[in-house]
Amino acid sequence: MPAYLYDLISRRAPSPAKVFIETPEGRKLTYGDLHAGSARIANVLRARGVEPGDRVAVQVEKSPEAILLYLACLRAGAIFLPLNTAYTPAEIEYFLGDARPRVFVCDPASREKLTAVAAAAGVAHVETLGVRQDGSLPEAAKAAAETFADVDRGPDDLAAILYTSGTTGRSKGAMLSHDNLASNALTLVDYWRFTQDDVLIHALPIYHTHGLFVAMNTLLLAGGSMFFLPKLDADLMLKLMDRATTMMGVPTFYTRLLQHPGLTREATKNMRLFVSGSAPLLAETHREWTARTGHAILERYGMTETNMNTSNPYDGDRVPGAVGFPLPGVSVRIANPETGATMAQGDIGMIEVKGPNVFKGYWQMPEKTASEFRPDGFFITGDLGRIDERGYVSIVGRDKDLVITGGFNVYPIEIETEIDALPGVVESAVVGVQHPDFGEGVTAVVVKKKDAALDEGQVIGALESRLAKFKLPKRVFFVDELPRNTMGKVQKAALRATYKDLYKK
Ligand code: AMP
Repeated sequence: MPAYLYDLISRRAPSPAKVFIETPEGRKLTYGDLHAGSARIANVLRARGVEPGDRVAVQVEKSPEAILLYLACLRAGAIFLPLNTAYTPAEIEYFLGDARPRVFVCDPASREKLTAVAAAAGVAHVETLGVRQDGSLPEAAKAAAETFADVDRGPDDLAAILYTSGTTGRSKGAMLSHDNLASNALTLVDYWRFTQDDVLIHALPIYHTHGLFVAMNTLLLAGGSMFFLPKLDADLMLKLMDRATTMMGVPTFYTRLLQHPGLTREATKNMRLFVSGSAPLLAETHREWTARTGHAILERYGMTETNMNTSNPYDGDRVPGAVGFPLPGVSVRIANPETGATMAQGDIGMIEVKGPNVFKGYWQMPEKTASEFRPDGFFITGDLGRIDERGYVSIVGRDKDLVITGGFNVYPIEIETEIDALPGVVESAVVGVQHPDFGEGVTAVVVKKKDAALDEGQVIGALESRLAKFKLPKRVFFVDELPRNTMGKVQKAALRATYKDLYKK
């Protein structure tokens, strides 16, 4: 019986002898190994009582076995629920209590402290999985059969729940169906021209949509291969570029690699495609990358709830600072955030999307789900953006990061772009901080280049001729680095918290 997404993967798989994953230690897993290994784990899950629709929560370090576990869940009809490795036991308690998984798989080192947490949340089974094929799960899998009768799952059945990072309020579980994942990955295979000849450098975490679905599902459905790195490692990535063809990364990958003297045209000559997403790629980084390597980074835009929405073209202009066109089958519109009415061409508004990529709603939050969809089925992304006359979408920031000062809207990216262009500036973040007279005060946090002699007055002075007075930062602070999460997103909420009392009288 077919498990929709896994069935698609199997039908498109190359010969069983073909390598899917190679690790830096030289471990290789073939497509045949994927099939047999995922069957073994699916048998273990079934033996633990996992029924179709049950959740399997997973907080483990990155390893090929974690991928086998993901595939095993698809085959057993379970809902794969990966959790960020940085979550603390208190946070895990919330997720387990909310999702009520049948099985929780954690790192062997955390077993002791998480067993009690799991028991308190009513989880029946705790298994462990380490990075050296160690732990109770691989142990049990060794003894299990390497064939498994896949559970019948259709396109609308759930394949995964991914909790959003939850920068405001409770973290929400985005329910993703087999077809949400399959349709998007198939689109990306075509749009980005993935084939069996592709070898991807994979250095992203696999608890997040980018590393798990965008990278993994696309390569699986193309029948390609991956170098599987535990994390960003510029030296190693540059070495691997000789044998790889593509890389998917967050902007931090690109800025780090640019700092490496080994990044040259010669070093990247075997590569055909560099993709960036999950956070804004500075136009400056885009240009520097092209100058150093001759490759234009392809920037795309997506989110946990929607998979990928837009992409710069494979052929044609990959525009710095833009996230490209709606992907085939995906509708994107710019709407008035309050009324939902479509905005005039070129105006800034809420980015709304509809298509087979859009999730089924938030786990056990029907009201929250309803409030984030328009009556005609468009999902309100929370990102503000515009579409230019050529159809390119650009993002100007998150709705909640918009600064409203003295009744005027200030889009942080406009101020950030001006500050970033000043000599001596590496990057900047602009936030709104509570202000007794203005509601919010525009506040800039700047990273300057080593040895740059730049002070607050100079930054404000330089902006005066470029920006309307209400947009000028009231204060400018210098920091060594901006707070970022693992996906490279600047944590504006953390900045707002740091400076919250700044303008208090
Ligand atoms: P996540 O659900 O963690 O993948 O975060 C999704 C959010 O990341 C989106 O709603 C955007 O705010 C942001 N994002 C993703 N890709 C881009 C991009 N290329 N440029 C700017 N922001 C992006």
